[in-house]
Amino acid sequence: MESAHARPFRLGDDWRRASDDEALVSIDPADGSVAGVVTRASVADVEAAVDIASAAFRRRAWRDLRPDQRAGLLHEVSRRLGAEHDSLARLQMRDSGKPLKECANMVASASYFFRYYASLCETWQDEVTSPRGPYFSMSVAEPYGVVAAITPWNSPIMAEAQKVAPALAAGNAVILKPSEETPQLALELERICREAGLPAGLLSVLPGTGEEVGAALVDHPGVRMVSFTGGTETGRAIAIAAGRRLIPVGLELGGKSPHIVFEDADFEKAVAGVASGIYGSAGQSCVAGTRLFVQRSIYQRFVEALVAFTRTVRVGAPDDPATQMGPLISRAHRDKVAGYVALARQEGGRILAGGGIPEAPALAAGWYFEPTVIEGLPNHARTCQEEIFGPVLVCLPFDDEDDVIAQANDTVYGLAAGMWTGDYARAWRVARALEAGSVWINTYKQSHIATAFGGFKASGIGREKGFHGLRLYSQVKSVFFGMHDAPMSL
Ligand code: NDP
Repeated sequence: MESAHARPFRLGDDWRRASDDEALVSIDPADGSVAGVVTRASVADVEAAVDIASAAFRRRAWRDLRPDQRAGLLHEVSRRLGAEHDSLARLQMRDSGKPLKECANMVASASYFFRYYASLCETWQDEVTSPRGPYFSMSVAEPYGVVAAITPWNSPIMAEAQKVAPALAAGNAVILKPSEETPQLALELERICREAGLPAGLLSVLPGTGEEVGAALVDHPGVRMVSFTGGTETGRAIAIAAGRRLIPVGLELGGKSPHIVFEDADFEKAVAGVASGIYGSAGQSCVAGTRLFVQRSIYQRFVEALVAFTRTVRVGAPDDPATQMGPLISRAHRDKVAGYVALARQEGGRILAGGGIPEAPALAAGWYFEPTVIEGLPNHARTCQEEIFGPVLVCLPFDDEDDVIAQANDTVYGLAAGMWTGDYARAWRVARALEAGSVWINTYKQSHIATAFGGFKASGIGREKGFHGLRLYSQVKSVFFGMHDAPMSL
């Protein structure tokens, strides 16, 4: 039985090992082989993990540790992530199917998150208010207690570190539920945190399904805050459940980001930028630039150049250094992406490039899909409005600034947007008018550990990264010290 070899997970100082029907199998999207088998968590494990995390939090050993001491431990986690970089990147590649170089970047980012939040632990300052009478007041950051962190499959270890590092830095206990598709790196992160000296119970990882384990976590009365990254519909369900309990949520959700090319753009850079914005991570990126808007005067020429570029994109095995686009996460997800291409045809779209499964025999066993360019659809078509989460780009012409701002904002989403232009005054005007949490000008998908990240509209609530990340996992307490010389009067 697969479960005979299932990797256990830790609950406090004990191990939970799978019984025969409790294994979760991670499939390598590159060839359909088994990438790993882990013990599948249950609702009973949620109960146990919350009890253990609550007890660890109540012991106050972590939250009362001096910030510089907490920082020391987070630095050690960062160092260990760096030391195990290559093996973690390879495991990540098998778990998620992402090209090795992307996995290497994600492991490096995870290490930087711990280093960055260690630094914030050292430099964070509470607020002292100028007195308005015989008292002294200050506002201090307090942890919530037990934080539930729920992550998707598209950027494992990085997405997890983006939550776990600031939540721990703020003094919380964390229960992490990674995606059932990619459970292995979260377990590695937990191991490394323990080996670095994190006391038992402050980080538990529950590899299980969202419906069972994720929902039970969000509903558990011992969980005081939920941080979720994933699809908008799941985020909505989590927000409703958290709303019933009146606990805060941080939501990083889906997108359908506009990528705009003005006629004065640097043409070659814009073509490469648009291609990298959609085909990076095989389009399985929340910020993928999925709706291309090109000014009508250069539309034809630009789309032709983009199609030519698309035909050069090397789809291949994740461990081949020449690969630019790896497989999709699963057969079911590839079916979904292919379904959207079929829908685009029904809606009247023309497939200018790709649109199917690559024919190369070497790729036959994996869940690969061709980079795809579609045109001829109005902005309100479903293909132009719904998140496909694959390498599928729709192209639309626009006339002027007002037209493109209206079309770009005509979506329920608001995660990101990009534009290519030589006119920086226009770039500023348009950037301010776009409804998006991140706007890129003459670049795309640039990120910075200290720059806030999050969505407008149905793309999310709250911001991660930077100071915002630490604030997300802290609540403010105001403390007053009386300095009265005389007794207080009624
Ligand atoms: P899902 O929303 O399907 O799942 C995300 C996580 O939530 C998984 O761990 C999942 O568990 C869990 N989950 C599912 N249902 C529930 C529930 N009822 N209660 C609690 N947890 C639940 O997203 P995907 O994993 O398919 O990831 C892709 C989506 O993530 C895209 O929409 C993408 O845009 C978004 N995303 C957003 C980012 C951002 O920063 N804004 C970054 C990356 C991705 P399981 O799947 O294991 O059953």
